[in-house]
Amino acid sequence: MPITIPQTDPRASYLEHRGAIDRAIQVALESGRYILGDEVKRFEQEFAAFNGARHAVGVGSGTDALVLALRALDVGPGDTVATVAHTAVATVAAIELVGAHPLLLDVDPVDFTLDVAELADVLKRGARIKAIVPVHLYGHPARIDDLLGFARDYGLRVIEDCAQAHGATIGGRTVGTLGDVGCFSFYPTKNLGAFGDGGAVITNDEALARRVVELREYGWRERYVSATAGQNSRLDELQAAILRVKLATLPRDNQRRQALAAHYDAGLAGTPLATPARRAGVSHVFHQYVVRAERRESLRAALAAAGIGTAVHYPVPVHRQPAYAGRIAVGPAAMRHTEPLAKQVLSLPMYPQLPGDAVKQVIAAVHAAGPSR
Ligand SMILES: *Cc1c(COP(=O)(O)O)cnc(C)c1O
Repeated sequence: MPITIPQTDPRASYLEHRGAIDRAIQVALESGRYILGDEVKRFEQEFAAFNGARHAVGVGSGTDALVLALRALDVGPGDTVATVAHTAVATVAAIELVGAHPLLLDVDPVDFTLDVAELADVLKRGARIKAIVPVHLYGHPARIDDLLGFARDYGLRVIEDCAQAHGATIGGRTVGTLGDVGCFSFYPTKNLGAFGDGGAVITNDEALARRVVELREYGWRERYVSATAGQNSRLDELQAAILRVKLATLPRDNQRRQALAAHYDAGLAGTPLATPARRAGVSHVFHQYVVRAERRESLRAALAAAGIGTAVHYPVPVHRQPAYAGRIAVGPAAMRHTEPLAKQVLSLPMYPQLPGDAVKQVIAAVHAAGPSR
């Protein structure tokens, strides 16, 4: 059976905003300025305002946002940076790209974000950690509020990986503004997605923002004069023009994701699937709607047979990936929660344009799958 309900569908977002996006692209093309022009400048202002941050800097990708933030905070060779194993490999790749050593920690089994107790344990044992990269996985905010105390006590820099959580909040504050710096990806399927690669760094620290601005373009402080050794990682004008159109509907798109999630929750109650938790005081923006299924593979097969696409984020925790296995440090909890999660998590169809009727069909297919659940 062909897939009739895809797990994600960035093209649906293009079709919904086609007129405005086509016009924005036309304007950008006719401007004659294709790199770091007015579109990027305006998008940076609008994205900073949206997040309630003083500064936003457009960069080439989410991975680069993390690399540039780490570099701007002087994290480099010899430093240890703690993060989770249950994340996109990009989080860990960025730490290694700046020459630092990742220390991978377990996640909380309920909300799938960094286990603060394990971090506390590691710090008390005397681990020398320079920075932490909590990941707001699936759109659910990590416990930044709990982490900030440790960060202060142990002098840790906090780099929030917000690649899956554009617009999510903790106590009313947008993710990316609680730590030292927030890093975003605009990969097409993200809550705010371009039609190509893109990313951004947000911060309230002006000096830090200036460092990122320099580092993203050859270390230039003035044109053709490299004050520091930089790189090339710029958001381009076309993507910025598209992102400006889509930023305007991000709050509504997140609300649609939340409404679909509530629909799933109600329909899946009473099945053996564990539906996503929300911690008190946070807003979850449902980049993914992830359930836990004991018999995931048979459920996936049953849904595929009914024409329903699913995905697994992520089947192989980073410490088990061929590139990292055996040579990367893991915390004392030994991935007690991460390992079973990787075998059980299943991402159901989720994107703002997903019709309510499609969610009904997914729910019916889960019920019909019967004991295979
Ligand atoms: C997508 C993603 C990234 C990387 O973003 P790119 O734009 O693909 O480089 C980093 N971290 C997380 C958690 C992500 O989901």
